[in-house]
Amino acid sequence: MTIANLYKLYAQHYLVDTDTRSIRENTLYFALKGANFNGNTFAQEALSKGALYSIVDEKDYATSDQIILVDNVLETLQQLASYHRNQLGLPIIALTGSNGKTTTKELIHSVLKKKFTTTATKGNLNNHIGVPLTLLSMTPKTEIGIVEMGANHPKEIAFLCQIAQPNFGYITNFGKAHLEGFGSLEGVIEAKSELYNYLKENNGIAFVNPKDAKQVEKTIELQTQEINFNQIKLLEVNPYVKVGLNKLQIQSHLIGTYNFTNIAAAITIGHYFKVSNANCKDALEKYIPENNRSQVIKSNENTIILDAYNANPTSMSAALESFSNLQAVNKLIILGDMFELGLDSEIEHQKIVEKLEQLNFTNCFLVGKLFMKTKSRFTKLNSTKELKELFTVHPPKNYSILIKGSRGMALEQIVALIP
Ligand code: ATP
Ligand code: MG
Repeated sequence: MTIANLYKLYAQHYLVDTDTRSIRENTLYFALKGANFNGNTFAQEALSKGALYSIVDEKDYATSDQIILVDNVLETLQQLASYHRNQLGLPIIALTGSNGKTTTKELIHSVLKKKFTTTATKGNLNNHIGVPLTLLSMTPKTEIGIVEMGANHPKEIAFLCQIAQPNFGYITNFGKAHLEGFGSLEGVIEAKSELYNYLKENNGIAFVNPKDAKQVEKTIELQTQEINFNQIKLLEVNPYVKVGLNKLQIQSHLIGTYNFTNIAAAITIGHYFKVSNANCKDALEKYIPENNRSQVIKSNENTIILDAYNANPTSMSAALESFSNLQAVNKLIILGDMFELGLDSEIEHQKIVEKLEQLNFTNCFLVGKLFMKTKSRFTKLNSTKELKELFTVHPPKNYSILIKGSRGMALEQIVALIP
């Protein structure tokens, strides 16, 4: 079947699903393959749950008229998404960067929603499957699309741009993340800049943080819209970021100084699309982050800043700097290993230890096999389990506690043991 014909089936309801557990009526079910599952085996089940058609790529499963056999389900999904994007002809804003993509995407979405019918990436669905699914979740009613793009290897962003064809783009930051795949910070800059390169070649508009402008200019020259810091000011981080916008004050629910840039980006993009200051304020004040991303938890005896959703050298340094500016009497820091750093792993963990020294922190627990290898006077523990055992016997009291580490360290488990 051609993509144009498949599109006719899709465009009856604009619904696509890849998981039979959450399938919707009238959807097209795409039987993707993962490491542990083969979606083809669920093709029939999808139909019995109300799917219009199932798309498979193994002949044995093409057992009814409602099952469409293609060469490769993933490629078909990507082609359909790209076809749809062309039919829609709406402005699409793409976001990439080492840290802060999801937060910035949500902030931009909140701001633009004030004025437009918008569709944005759900959660963190930002890869070669998530981007097509995001595009296919847009309908002719959508006025602006906001697409998060993630990458841990070169050329991934270029590939996602080919599918999503963004007209606007913003790179949240260039940081030391996924160094295993990118090789170095220069590699990160080059890979993330694939978004700006795409925009340049296709007459798009790039929003550029002035802090990164030099780096970007070195890589490419493009039509830029700089994040305007003149009328957006950081007023306070205690622990939530408060921003001044002309005469308005915006009190966010976001912690960490680094969120100032994320907010400034959302305001700048809002202004570009003519969202009023009052609407920007209202949208940003109502946005509350989900999951384990930067939450403040007030327990009976302590205040916890939980940032255990992910960690890399850049975001960890940013979190430490922000925590050092926090006004609090007793501070305690719990850091878990940062994964996926490749050859730089040992050096980067050691640098974090040095940062702790520089910022004069005294109470720190370093958790995980990588931090174990550092030279440090702080308490080191092999695993989250060991820290849990320690806290069971010696729970902290009257502290402001920062918890940050890679997802795999599951440091959020500590929270239940903090009184
Ligand atoms: P992922 O790669 O998992 O999709 P992401 O880029 O979407 O991550 P977020 O989920 O928004 O990022 O934020 C993750 C963490 O990154 C935050 O909790 C914070 O510690 C850090 N962070 C957020 N924004 C910035 C920023 N502008 N600069 C540096 N660090 C940031
Ligand atoms: Mg994300």
